[in-house]
Amino acid sequence: MRCREARQFLPSLMDEEATGELGEHVSGCRRCQADLAVYGEVASSLSVLEMVEVDPPAWFLQDTLSLIPSPTVSQRVRIAAAARPVRYAAASVGGAVVGAGAIGLWAWRRTRRAVSGSPQSSRDLAVQKA
Ligand SMILES: [Zn+2]
Repeated sequence: MRCREARQFLPSLMDEEATGELGEHVSGCRRCQADLAVYGEVASSLSVLEMVEVDPPAWFLQDTLSLIPSPTVSQRVRIAAAARPVRYAAASVGGAVVGAGAIGLWAWRRTRRAVSGSPQSSRDLAVQKA
């Protein structure tokens, strides 16, 4: 067996020991052993990550819904939130609001920078001196 063939089976060796030709190759090949070690490090790093569900405070859904300008959309979200666990709907609406806020802040700062960063005309300077 060559490295090219062995490499496609290396990820599976995270769960089971190599046997047969694959086992013989990996036990005698430093390159495949190094690749296997990298897979092990990645798997180890990923195992540290975990999903954490957080229950939003009671006011979160109401406050978030009040930010939606359209009563139709707000009503739809309210119905979806009632049908599903509130935390999922609230989290998705919260994410949309945060995203919209971030875009708004970016646009506002961009506009502000363009105004304050633009060179002043001699007329503006004359007004300031007067
Ligand atoms: Zn190899």
